[in-house]
Amino acid sequence: MSAAAALDTARPALPVLQEKGQREVFCGLTGIVWLHRKIQDSFFLVVGSRTCAHLIQSAAGVMIFAEPRFATAIIDERDLAGLADMNDELDQVVDRLIARRPDIRLLFLVGSCPSEVIKLDLSRAASRLSRRFSPAVRVLNYSGSGIETTFTQGEDACLASLVPILPAEAPNAAKSLLVVGALAEVVEDQMARMFEIMGVGPVRFLPPRRATDLPAIGPGTRYLLAQPFLADTARALEARGASRIAAPFPLGEEGTTLWLQAAAHAWGIDPDRFQAATAIGRERARQALARYTGRLTGRRVFFFPDSQLEIPLARFLARELSMELVEVGTPYLHRQHLADELAMLPPDTRLSEGQHVDRQLDRCRAEKPDLVVCGLGLANPLEAEGLTTKWSIELLFTPIQGYEQAADLAELFARPLVRRARLEV
Ligand code: SF4
Repeated sequence: MSAAAALDTARPALPVLQEKGQREVFCGLTGIVWLHRKIQDSFFLVVGSRTCAHLIQSAAGVMIFAEPRFATAIIDERDLAGLADMNDELDQVVDRLIARRPDIRLLFLVGSCPSEVIKLDLSRAASRLSRRFSPAVRVLNYSGSGIETTFTQGEDACLASLVPILPAEAPNAAKSLLVVGALAEVVEDQMARMFEIMGVGPVRFLPPRRATDLPAIGPGTRYLLAQPFLADTARALEARGASRIAAPFPLGEEGTTLWLQAAAHAWGIDPDRFQAATAIGRERARQALARYTGRLTGRRVFFFPDSQLEIPLARFLARELSMELVEVGTPYLHRQHLADELAMLPPDTRLSEGQHVDRQLDRCRAEKPDLVVCGLGLANPLEAEGLTTKWSIELLFTPIQGYEQAADLAELFARPLVRRARLEV
């Protein structure tokens, strides 16, 4: 059991308001924006419509000076009418792409709403193309369609598609740690250093920076989730023998400490060594966070369900910055992966799971919170009504995990309040 769960396991489970209805979230294609930067020899080919192409291009801010590692193979009206053989066209697009980009080692065919509507079998296409281009290029597929619950499920689907091709660990391999979830490189380097000082290892990361460097996996693998939205990936890892180390998520000083401590505990690291390894980082994070208490303490925050990061963020804001949680909505609540987080939330926290956007908007307006964390689609209308908002998608594009980033995370919540205060002067 992790230290966090030990805090308050006897407490009755928090009631959760179940919501069902219209949703206002991005689709899973959005994950390409951070994943293509992470796996540097990969390429994401969306098989979709012009709408899909617009979505990822505007979300990525269009990198006109660099050759991007994503593109869209457009399904047009002819394809939708079943007049063209999409498989032949797809093969031709992939041929041209691989001829032009010999650096690609891993190609993801990413399904979309249109590819699902015409029932294009991308897993067969991926196996066919993999046979053709192997061993130089591996071709995998996953769905990023808007039929999923929320946009972070794109990362989950992508990582889950990688698990079957991870090599098997050697028989009788020593215990190893796998950190699962895309982290900014600066964060990954800090975490790797911290594990090394603590004596936890060997440590590998999923996704890796290069497709040619896939981590081995098997019964000796203990994995630690770095993101709370990886249910399918976790299931796939466990099917290959890996076991999860239960922990809260590495957000804020407390979350980072408990996350690292869970790994230290699994490795039987001496508590004094753990304290010595983390003391400087903890102190630095506490001091940096203290600068934000004046701006954030006592302010009331309302989370719309969007990224699945809501519960760890709410725990951080309530416990380390003394913010008041009005409502914490999450699109999907994985009770097992979030057990330690739930145990640390204030006992009267109002939780909701799923989305009924109209009812949530009514509750939000009635409460008049100081800050609303929500998707882009809701932010502008709420700002126009005089509410102050934070786009939750920014929390995926910004390095926020670990000690050195704790203050940056607080800053993301403080900035809209400062902006609003300036507008009101
Ligand atoms: S996958 Fe679906 S929801 Fe996403 S951009 Fe394409 S059409 Fe829209």
